[in-house]
Amino acid sequence: MTIARVALDVPLPRLFDYSFDPTWNVEPGARVLVPFGPRRRVGVVVALARETDIPSDKIRAALGLLADTAPLSREWLALAEFCSQYYQRPLGEVIQSALPPRLKRAEPLRAAPSAWTLTAAGRDALAAATAARPSLKRTLLWHLAYADACPHEILMTLGTRAAAALRALHGEGLIASATALPTTHRFVDERTLSAAQTSALAAITASLDRFAAFVLFGVTGSGKTEVYLHAIDRTLAAGKQALVLVPEINLTPQLAAEFGARFPGVPIGVLHSNLAANERARTWIDAQSGNLRIILGTRMAVFAPLARLGLIVVDEEHDASFKQQDGVRYSARDLAVVRAQRLAIPVVLGSATPALETYANAQAGRYRLLSLPERVRAGAALPRVELVDMRKEIEMHGISARLAEAVRERIARQEQSLLFLNRRGYAPVLACGACGWVSDCSRCAAHLVVHYAPARAPRGARHGLLRCHHCGLEAPAPRHCPSCGNVDLVPFGRGTQRLEDAVQSLFPEARVLRIDSDTTRARGSWDRMRADIDAGAVDVLIGTQILAKGHDFPRLTLVGVLNADAALMAADYRAPERLFAQLQQVAGRAGRADLRGEVLVQTRYPEAALYQSLVRHDYEGFAARQLQERTEAGFPPAAAEAVVRAEARTPQAALALLRQALQLAPADHAEVTLFDPVPMSLSRLSGWERAHVLVQSPSRRALQAFLSVWIARLYDMRVAADARWHVDVDPLEF
Ligand SMILES: [Zn+2]
Ligand SMILES: [Zn+2]
Repeated sequence: MTIARVALDVPLPRLFDYSFDPTWNVEPGARVLVPFGPRRRVGVVVALARETDIPSDKIRAALGLLADTAPLSREWLALAEFCSQYYQRPLGEVIQSALPPRLKRAEPLRAAPSAWTLTAAGRDALAAATAARPSLKRTLLWHLAYADACPHEILMTLGTRAAAALRALHGEGLIASATALPTTHRFVDERTLSAAQTSALAAITASLDRFAAFVLFGVTGSGKTEVYLHAIDRTLAAGKQALVLVPEINLTPQLAAEFGARFPGVPIGVLHSNLAANERARTWIDAQSGNLRIILGTRMAVFAPLARLGLIVVDEEHDASFKQQDGVRYSARDLAVVRAQRLAIPVVLGSATPALETYANAQAGRYRLLSLPERVRAGAALPRVELVDMRKEIEMHGISARLAEAVRERIARQEQSLLFLNRRGYAPVLACGACGWVSDCSRCAAHLVVHYAPARAPRGARHGLLRCHHCGLEAPAPRHCPSCGNVDLVPFGRGTQRLEDAVQSLFPEARVLRIDSDTTRARGSWDRMRADIDAGAVDVLIGTQILAKGHDFPRLTLVGVLNADAALMAADYRAPERLFAQLQQVAGRAGRADLRGEVLVQTRYPEAALYQSLVRHDYEGFAARQLQERTEAGFPPAAAEAVVRAEARTPQAALALLRQALQLAPADHAEVTLFDPVPMSLSRLSGWERAHVLVQSPSRRALQAFLSVWIARLYDMRVAADARWHVDVDPLEF
């Protein structure tokens, strides 16, 4: 009997055995339809076996082979296996969360090539064929020999296993998709590379046939993208595919357009979670067949099945969005490095502010640092950064006289200013001065943020909406205090909406545009805003971090940073790193063309080392100090970490679940430190009380060995119906 070990989307750390019809051409990586309990599910065959522990009268038969996709490659399955082991999640869950949702349905996707054609090798094979008994494969080849191209649908009528036979012929290189594009490509190369770009490119292209991890370290405007493009050109010239990961969905259309212009006629695929289901599945299949030569995408694209992958680029590699925060909590950046290593290809991690983990790897010689020290465009110097001491400044609505004056100058010169405030809404909380009531979310340990409903609340009105930024709960703002009846409720603090009001009152003639996730939510709104900015129809931009990333505004010469100090005081040891990266990135928006930029950072702590490094554009000094502090405190990258989190209806139940979990921990864990269960910093989210246990070790290997025993036991632990747990390796949230 032949058995297929099938990965299914169930939260159990095991595979499921099924027998199958031996005439099916089942291979590892194939999608199959199987019975599971009373239902049917689509699974992926991970391995074939001769034996199973299931008695032969109990084993169930697979219902069908889903031949509309080619089997996933061994390389792909091995990547999923690594992800499963490292992040301690069931293999079935990893595979199923990587697959496009459309491919988890059994109904065939009409994504097969519309037509096939015979290759030269196919003609030779046909001429050389002497077998007396014609096989289905030969019938297909004969059929194709009489036409330049033959529609897939017609070939499918030639035998019940035509799909598998066509796939096999394609795999052997005897037939090709009639729509497949030529393997040659054109690259528009009109810009001269700087010396630094040239040597970075030389280092990457010298490694195209082996594993090497490069850190491409360069400020905004230093020309990292140009290095990527040239390296991709060399990759395509070698007949291979390139994978480019970016942090933001918003950035993919812009980047795809830019890549399209530089590689005219080269098929480029885009993968992110906002695609329609069929489109995403088609891109997946075209990537797998090799028809797409370049794939651009967000973190999920690290799982794109690419048969001839030759280069991986991770742009803005420090960005936290590369870490998945639910389900399989993987880091796409780290998986990209693992994937490159296994394929023996180069991976390029680009950033102006590399993650400290990445920087430490470069310092240790595991990654190779390639520096692009200056801005490439002639005359485009780095912006001048000035700290505005708010202890000495006169301010109005949170804007210092110094910053207001600088904005006024820009308006007069018809240049643009950007005021950066990383807090959306009108005010972070609504409060009652009489009794101390504050607007708390009933489901989270967080305040409800005051928002104006733009259609309903006139500018300057006190009432509006209250909204939770964690769970999305929304309620009309009360007109009087729910606790004491006081009608004088005060919005406390400042968000982007309030700043917009303030700027408009300070500069009544200015055209102000607010850009945050509230104003860009509607489809197409961001494109319209960009067009306005580019056309010079905006004087002052107000924005959150979404403005900090990757957008080039040639008229923008002033960046004002408001209210950044809070991150300086945060308990999270990663907060300074994030703040520095964010400020460096937002500062990079200023003065990219022929106008020098100026950055004014309002702070009450101008002497802080972080700000001093920012003024000097000194990432290396900042990183060295942070790494020193992390090492002394025993934090990553000096240690490896994981957390087990529990969620329950009461804090006691969450902590009790973790204590129960700790009972199952291996007794012998000399190199591993287990901390006591504590509530998470956001202790309640969407009605769940949350707590965690931190596990730390100076040795990643020791931590992995410990986790693999412990977590396997936790999957067998009895858990109450209204409680749950999960593990997060290399967590970012505490
Ligand atoms: Zn009150
Ligand atoms: Zn909430």
